[in-house]
Amino acid sequence: MGTGGRRWIFADQLGEHFLDAAGQPVLLIESRAVLRRRRFHRQKAHLVLSALRHRAAELGDQAVFRPCDTYGEALAGVREPLTVCRPTSYAAAGFVAGLPDVTVLEPRGFASSQAEFARWARERGRRRLLMEDFYRDARRRLDVLMDGAEPAGGRWNFDTENRQPPPPGGLEAPRPWRPAEDEIDERVRHDLSRWERDGDVAFVGRDAPRAFPATRAEALAALADFVAHRLPGFGPHQDAMLAGDPVMAHSLLSAALNLGLLDPMECVRAAEAAYRAGRAPLASVEGYVRQLIGWRDYVWHLYWHLGPSYRAENRLAADVRPPEWFRELDAGAVRARCLSWALEQVRDHGFTHHIVRLMVLGNYALQRGFHPADLADWFHRCFVDGYDWVMIPNVVGMSQYADGGTLATKPYAAGGAYINRMSDFCGGCDYRPAERTGDTACPFTAGYWWFLARNEHRLKGNPRVTVQLRNLRRLPDLDEVCAREQDRGTGPP
Ligand SMILES: Cc1cc2nc3c(=O)[nH]c(=O)nc-3n(C[C@H](O)[C@H](O)[C@H](O)COP(=O)(O)OP(=O)(O)OC[C@H]3O[C@@H](n4cnc5c(N)ncnc54)[C@H](O)[C@@H]3O)c2cc1C
Ligand code: SF4
Repeated sequence: MGTGGRRWIFADQLGEHFLDAAGQPVLLIESRAVLRRRRFHRQKAHLVLSALRHRAAELGDQAVFRPCDTYGEALAGVREPLTVCRPTSYAAAGFVAGLPDVTVLEPRGFASSQAEFARWARERGRRRLLMEDFYRDARRRLDVLMDGAEPAGGRWNFDTENRQPPPPGGLEAPRPWRPAEDEIDERVRHDLSRWERDGDVAFVGRDAPRAFPATRAEALAALADFVAHRLPGFGPHQDAMLAGDPVMAHSLLSAALNLGLLDPMECVRAAEAAYRAGRAPLASVEGYVRQLIGWRDYVWHLYWHLGPSYRAENRLAADVRPPEWFRELDAGAVRARCLSWALEQVRDHGFTHHIVRLMVLGNYALQRGFHPADLADWFHRCFVDGYDWVMIPNVVGMSQYADGGTLATKPYAAGGAYINRMSDFCGGCDYRPAERTGDTACPFTAGYWWFLARNEHRLKGNPRVTVQLRNLRRLPDLDEVCAREQDRGTGPP
């Protein structure tokens, strides 16, 4: 429930659903200090500033827009009470909670409310908070893809259909929707370049034409395009990677969702309508819906449920600082084709799809023992859709297993065989995915065994890793593999 008055909206609360009524007065703040504090990807800084300025322009007289150094400075000039939907990070939520004359409302922009998640978690009692259970609860509660009390098609889960390797001839998904830049983008580019020249801010990654929606109208166009042309092919190959097709049939809507330009339920309803009208197969639609009311909401609620100390979890005692070539996105320094390609995507676009994040970038960091909080910071700064609430559970929990298994039932560690099966990278690589020793040993394959050897004592009690640990002990050359990987250290593979 809102309370009217002037609504302060953050740069990730840009949609109409963060206001209570058309015409409600709005406050928007553009803080330079936020950009100064961290070295963001140039295209991420561009997207956020562009979206904020577009919203200010769209609201016109309805909004007070304050470009300032700090939030405090901007707020000092505000002489009326404000309301704000609870911001999306602990730091920002703590900041607004301490302000006089600011009423903090329930957060918005997710499919399930905090009370609904809390009820579900309470009912689970001491059992694990599994995503699959939360997702099924949300499907029933929100009445998504349900035929009465039963899931559409008689099944909750189409993962078996949706985990196929890439098709031999490529996917041939229609190209995704892309925006055209305007004079606001021109101004943003000019400002960012000037601030960088003045030494006020520094960026990582390359500049390029804006590739993601910055307005509600653009976000709606991107959603309509996805549902009409790409959703039908979303499911079967969503876990596959292709060097010549970095986006495949993914929606590319995460940045628009996380800016608040789209509400997840409108995406879900649009996808379900396509299924009901026979325009998209159930396996693809279920796969997409699961990502939104399942994974996206689940990590959002876990971020708050697990508390502010969760970010510091490091149960695998990983303490390696990500090396400079990784931090600087120096794809050219890397011979391993999959990793070089992934870094190149981040450098040039500030984006890769999920499996590249999890099974190439995250997997490499996990194997090499990168410090989870350092890695979360890197992902947060380098990805256009990165925010604290989404990075912390995805990186600390899902990708680095630093919580000891709260979020993922086993570490997402895999050798070259997995990458070879799910991509077309290995054919053109200097290394061989099946080799773990010698000059052409795949760094992912050797790194996988080295990771298991280093963490054997920590993973021993996990039944989902028993077979892998048994295989580890059968390796005749384990000492050699570990010694070589130790020597390789943090140099680019
Ligand atoms: C290490 C790591 C870091 C990640 N960092 C982010 C991040 O900073 N921001 C972000 O939005 N997602 C993040 N994800 C989740 C996921 O990779 C991206 O949401 C997805 O790749 C975005 O591309 P898309 O919109 O084409 O997604 P699609 O493949 O089209 O999926 C549909 C939607 O589902 C949602 N979604 C799916 N999985 C997740 C998830 N695990 N967490 C949250 N939302 C999810 C996204 O909103 C996405 O738009 C991360 C995953 C990993 C493993
Ligand atoms: S051989 Fe190894 S390093 Fe090369 S692309 Fe395959 S998995 Fe990556």
